[in-house]
Amino acid sequence: MAPDVNPFESLQSQVDEAATHLDVEDDVIERLKHPERVLETNLTVEQDDGTLERFKAFRSQFNGDRGPYKGGIRYHPHVSRDEVKALSGWMTYKTAIVDIPLGGGKGGIIIDPAEYSESELERLTRTFAKELRPMIGEDRDIPAPDVNTGQREMNWIKDTYEDLENTTEPGVITGKNLASGGSEGRVEATGRSTVIAAREAFDYLGKDLEGATVAVQGYGNAGWIAAKLIDEMGATVIAASDSSGGIYNPDGFDPVAAKHHKNETGSVVGYEESQEEITNEDVLTLDVDLLIPAALENAINRDLAEDVTADVISEAANGPLTPEADRVLEDKGCFVIPDILANAGGVTVSYFEWVQNRQRFYWTEERVNNELEAIIVEAFDALVESYEEHDLDNPRTAAYVVAIERVANAFEEAGTFP
Ligand code: GLU
Repeated sequence: MAPDVNPFESLQSQVDEAATHLDVEDDVIERLKHPERVLETNLTVEQDDGTLERFKAFRSQFNGDRGPYKGGIRYHPHVSRDEVKALSGWMTYKTAIVDIPLGGGKGGIIIDPAEYSESELERLTRTFAKELRPMIGEDRDIPAPDVNTGQREMNWIKDTYEDLENTTEPGVITGKNLASGGSEGRVEATGRSTVIAAREAFDYLGKDLEGATVAVQGYGNAGWIAAKLIDEMGATVIAASDSSGGIYNPDGFDPVAAKHHKNETGSVVGYEESQEEITNEDVLTLDVDLLIPAALENAINRDLAEDVTADVISEAANGPLTPEADRVLEDKGCFVIPDILANAGGVTVSYFEWVQNRQRFYWTEERVNNELEAIIVEAFDALVESYEEHDLDNPRTAAYVVAIERVANAFEEAGTFP
């Protein structure tokens, strides 16, 4: 991590960079660089020993020009107001590049959830849901999981919201488990889009995915599913890491068995098929065809980028490259599939979940995966069209050009109130 890089400034520089290729007025671009509003709240939560503890929490509603605000809630000790603002901006451009009728939002609580019991986390989550209640709703703002949150937290938020509103409204939140109104395929969706985008990029570059070597940094929900699916596509996963360290086998290993090892021991480290234990940074700089950063933002800064040798990067994490690292990789000719497209599978299947919730009609996993595939392929084609039309060197800029144009059009067509 490079804590000196402020992700909100990264977001703003990405928008500025794309704006130079766009015919959108400066005053509209200015609007697209700031959240519409940010809730900052202090949650008072009773602990198991009867004492009270205060937790700071945020929800940023970045842009609602294309539909209700949409984006996850993360629980992490490094959550900050600027991080949440950046993530909500990335959500805005993510929903735009995949062209689903949603805006962008994000929330977070400053907490290390590993230090708290399940009942403490439930009281905390329900307290946050109560605080969020006036600003969320299936036509207002629809939260979802993010780092360190999952189905359990989403079910609690839905239940609290429905109790307080005295209604049934499963579409107020996505990423729920199936019994609470979740969608088939939602858990796998982020990893799935990461590899579909990688496959499209290999195809576009005339490279063969069969037998290509892959390194995955981060073995949470996005990273491990991406590893599993890319292996199924015929690529060879040779390295993976989590916060405890990395594993490496030049001949490849079984990503599912590595996940079982992590489930049993808490880390991929020590997995028997690994020939060598390596650091997180080693995983990022290995000589591979495809690198999948799937942990947190700023994983690759300028210095580290100098040592990255991958031909293609598919960003499963949000913001894993600092803007300086992005430029270094651009100069090297590394094809970086930006987060707003690569990991957009999560929010795309969240959109399907919301559609199913509103229709009270549920799809098969096959239908979910087929519709997801079509959306990611179409978004990738839109990226390539913009990349070629504007003669760009950076696929991220190409994606932002398309996304910003869509958001700006929605804003301009609606006119300005009052
Ligand atoms: N947290 C995920 C993301 O960053 C999913 C958001 C959603 O499903 O709304 O894209």
